[in-house]
Amino acid sequence: MALSRDANTEARHRLVGGLLGQQVDPRVADAFWQVKRHHFIEPALAFRAYEDVTLPIGHQQTLSRPSVVARQLTEILRGRKRLRYVLEVGTGSGYQTALLTHLCTRVYSIERIRGLHDIAEPRLAAAGNRNYRLRVGDGFKGWAEAGPFDAIVAAAAPAAVPQAWIDQLAMGGCLILPLARGAGQRMVRVDKTEDGIVQTDLTEASFVPCLRGVVG
Ligand code: SAH
Repeated sequence: MALSRDANTEARHRLVGGLLGQQVDPRVADAFWQVKRHHFIEPALAFRAYEDVTLPIGHQQTLSRPSVVARQLTEILRGRKRLRYVLEVGTGSGYQTALLTHLCTRVYSIERIRGLHDIAEPRLAAAGNRNYRLRVGDGFKGWAEAGPFDAIVAAAAPAAVPQAWIDQLAMGGCLILPLARGAGQRMVRVDKTEDGIVQTDLTEASFVPCLRGVVG
């Protein structure tokens, strides 16, 4: 007799299958399999957890679409066997933080809205891996004591690449961020190389704005 699997497991399986068809790094797809997205959103929305959609997480913020998160994580792993320290700007729900715990030695994640940090913290603790550190703070400043970082991922869009992020990037490291441009946004990759900073335009983006200061 076939084992009956719960609906969330089936839906997660379909999501991972879909990601593998979109040139997502298999390590990233595996992280999407390990981390239960429905644990990072309000129970009332859990039935939509594995759709490729943006979901509200409160405080006017959103959890990005899985395909967009997968694209960002695939970029930071490109050409690398292993990532050591990674900085995430915008903890939000903690979902991407949980994915990152499967992809690097330690994640450092900053959130400016205390109310979101307070919800993400117990959810991350329940998710299993312990290789993360959270902080309530202004992500524009980065997290200097924890750097340099092999990668920095921003889930909120500033108008220009913050100098602190470039300073805290390890040589050979990369930064993936949405940049506000005109009325829209572009997803941009910034590589720190021996020859200098190289910026590559990737695709269209639609993230919440990166704002200064701490709330709460
Ligand atoms: N990766 C998150 C996405 C959250 S949306 C998730 O998986 O749920 C982006 C988050 O960035 C929001 O929670 C917002 O409050 C936060 N943010 C915006 N500007 C910030 C800043 N300067 N420093 C830290 N967090 C910031």
